[in-house]
Formats: sequence, C-alpha cells, structure tokens
Amino acid sequence: MGNASPGKSDPAAAYRAAVAVIERLAAKGFTTYLAGGCVRDRLLNRTPVDYDVATEALPDVVEGLFPGAMTTGKCFGVVRVRIDSEEVEIATFRADHGYHDGRHPDSVTFSDPKTDALRRDFTINALFMDIGKDNRIIDFVEGQRDLDDRIVRCVGHPATRFKEDHLRMLRAVRFTSVLEFQLNTATADAIREQAGQVADIAAERIRDELTRILTESPRAGDALMLLDELDLLEPLLPEISAMRGTLQPPQFHPEGDVFEHTVLMLNEMESPSPRLAWAVLLHDVGKPPTITTDTDRIRFNRHATVGGDMTVEILRRLRFPNDDIDFITACVRGHMRTMDVPRMRRATLRRMVGAPTFPVELELHRLDCVGSHGELDNYDRLVAFQEEMANEPALPPAWISGGDILDMGIQEGPQIGHWLRKAYEAQLEDRFPERASLRAWLSEQIRG
Ligand code: ATP
Ligand code: MG
Repeated sequence: MGNASPGKSDPAAAYRAAVAVIERLAAKGFTTYLAGGCVRDRLLNRTPVDYDVATEALPDVVEGLFPGAMTTGKCFGVVRVRIDSEEVEIATFRADHGYHDGRHPDSVTFSDPKTDALRRDFTINALFMDIGKDNRIIDFVEGQRDLDDRIVRCVGHPATRFKEDHLRMLRAVRFTSVLEFQLNTATADAIREQAGQVADIAAERIRDELTRILTESPRAGDALMLLDELDLLEPLLPEISAMRGTLQPPQFHPEGDVFEHTVLMLNEMESPSPRLAWAVLLHDVGKPPTITTDTDRIRFNRHATVGGDMTVEILRRLRFPNDDIDFITACVRGHMRTMDVPRMRRATLRRMVGAPTFPVELELHRLDCVGSHGELDNYDRLVAFQEEMANEPALPPAWISGGDILDMGIQEGPQIGHWLRKAYEAQLEDRFPERASLRAWLSEQIRG
C-alpha cells in the first residue's frame, strides 16, 4: 500500500537532483522552471513529495541531454531522469487538447509557460519558480493570492475543468483537506454538479486518492464530511454514506450516529498507516444493514461479521491487494472482541496480542473508545498484557509436535490435530513450566 504516496527517501537529494536538471537545461539556453506541487509546497514550507521541472526544451532534446532518460510519457511531453537515485520529471510546456475519456487529453501541443499554467488543475498548483533568478515566482493565475488566502480554486472554468478530468474532483478534496484550505465556492458547486461522474474514475486511482485523503489530512474526519457535502461519498462509498442517520444507543454512544462516531475517530488519528485509516473508516460499516430496534434498545447483532464481509467487497471493488484486504478485514471482523478482554483466557489473549494485526487493532480499539464513551479500561488491560509479553513471544514455537503424538500411540488422522491444539492451548495458558511436564500430562490425557 506504499505506492499511494511515493515519498522520496531524501528530500534534500531530490531537490539537488531537480536543480542539477534545471541547470543543465538552462546552460543550453532553455527556459526551465520548478513547477506545480513542489513550488506550492516550498512556499508553504512543506516538504514536497516530488519535484517537477517544466521546460521549453522539446522532449527529444531533453532525452538527448539526459542519456538513459525514461520516455514512457513522452507523447505527453514528459521525460523522467534519474540523478543519484532521485527521479525528476521533466515536462515540456504544453497545452492539452480534447478530453474525451474524462481523464486524459486526446493530444498535446508544445507551448509556452502561460499556456502550461492554464492546463493545470488548481491555481495553487500552477506556479513556477525560477531558481536561476532568486527563486522568483511566475504566476499567470493569481495562485500566490490563493496560496496566501488558503483557497483551492480551479484554473479557469470549474465545470469545464472537472468535465475534462473527473479525478480533479478528488484532488480538490485532497488539497483542501491535507493543506487545511477552503474550497472556493464556484469550484465546490461545480463538483456537486458532476459528483455522480466520480465513479467513472479507475478504481485504483480512487483508492490511491482516498488513501492519501485519509492518511495525510490532519483531520481525516472533516475530509470525510467534505466528501459527503460535495455529494462524492454516495457514489464512491454508498456503504459509508448509509452510516449517516444510523442512530446508536446513547448510553454507549453519546457522540451521535454511526457516521459521526466514525468522523470523530478519523479526526483523532495521528499519522495513520493506510491500513489503520481504512480499518477505522470501515469498522462499523456493518451497522446500517444490521440495525434492529424491536428489542429493549437499538442493537447491531453480528455487525462486525457482516461488516467484515462488506469490507472484503468494498476493498475488492477498489482493487486493493489481497494482503491489505485480509489485514483490514481481520481488524473489522475482530473489533468487538475487545469487549471480552476482562473474561478472556490467557491463551486467547496471547493469540490476540501475537497476531500481526494486533498493533493496528489496538489503536483501532483506542480510537473506538475515544470516539464514543471514552472508557479505556480494556485498552489499558491489553497494553498491560502486551507489556507482560514483551520479553517472550506471545505465540512461541510449539513444544509438542505431530511426531510426539504419534509416539503416544495415536494413528495418523484428524486426532493428531485435535491433540496438537490441546497441547498448544495448555502451553499458551502457561500451565506447565517446560516441555517435559507438558508432554507427560498430554500422554496421560491420551491414555485416558
Ligand atoms: P503531490 O505531489 O503532493 O500529490 P502535486 O500537486 O505535485 O501534489 P502531482 O500529481 O505530483 O501533484 O502533479 C504535479 C502537477 O501537475 C500539479 O501540481 C498540477 O499542476 C499538475 N497536475 C497533476 N495532475 C493534474 C490533473 N489531473 N489535472 C491538471 N493538472 C494536473
Ligand atoms: Mg507532486
């Protein structure tokens, strides 16, 4: 899941690589600037994810100047070069023409800086920086003003820009939420008008944008509300949209409905991994379809199990890799087990703490409490048990093997598994100090 946000290992090296590229092109007399997101981020004192260079040199010329350049995007005027293991994207100033698939231009023509600024999505993303001239900013779209006022606004006519490329609707939400900016009203209105089209974007792109929104926004819950206010949530994740208005018993959930509870939890996350963020978003997705109100109070019987099945379906639809689906689903399916912690047998606790999902499950549980009644008793119990297990593996290698059980006179077959489980359970319960006494006990059990 790391590919959602391709962070550079060394931001300083990435910048040096971009400077080296610009200097080589400038030395040949080509106007060449830093462009787009990296300029925005530098002006905001943020570390850019990647550096893009824009130049008047044509792609063939760029390729000639940088032997070994990668030219997969050359028809769009983009050439990638690697300098000291840092990748820099060099794009020739261009105009994009005729979007017919709602995502890509049909053709491009090479142009000048102004035309290149006008094809970009948002004014804050359309700035150039001339590093050869004291980092002078070149601004054709009043992007600096919007950066100062903290506003995300389309370059040009919003409805046209979103019609050209539907992905820009999600990028608008991402920049607004991650930078904690305001979304310009005309830009927001245009998104609402076209929100239904968001489902036409390739599932992988939706997945990556949503993951970045959830993991990079300081308040991911507010980002979810923004998606909802812009009518993007229903077409993307109708199952999450259904949580709005799904009431909960006030004695356990004084904070409100399932949607509000999830928003609170998302807002409480701190630098979450993608897996945690998705587990938080989906943990109660089984509540809307399982709600019953005909008993003494509102109940959601089996909502974690139902939610687990729904999670598989949603994450498959978004083309998540199988290991992510398994991991996140295990967190959703298991999230109610924490209720039983005070009564849990030692072996069960050890299995829980020893599972690879445990660190994420523990944080999910903490957020679940913080986002509702606020009681952390079971969380504290789990942390204490985890500390108790700090110096020994929670799930150690088994002392008893299948061979031992055959030696005790059991025939090959399902009975072997039965006795192996019994032996391991006793081992996890710490009922015996070492292998010999466990073996002796088991042998006695088998003889009956
Ligand atoms: P980040 O790298 O943090 O995701 P960014 O703004 O750098 O943000 P990139 O995807 O790296 O985004 O793209 C670099 C620049 O290319 C953008 O700043 C913008 O000017 C332009 N751009 C990218 N995607 C689009 C798009 N879908 N439509 C129009 N312009 C775009
Ligand atoms: Mg970028």
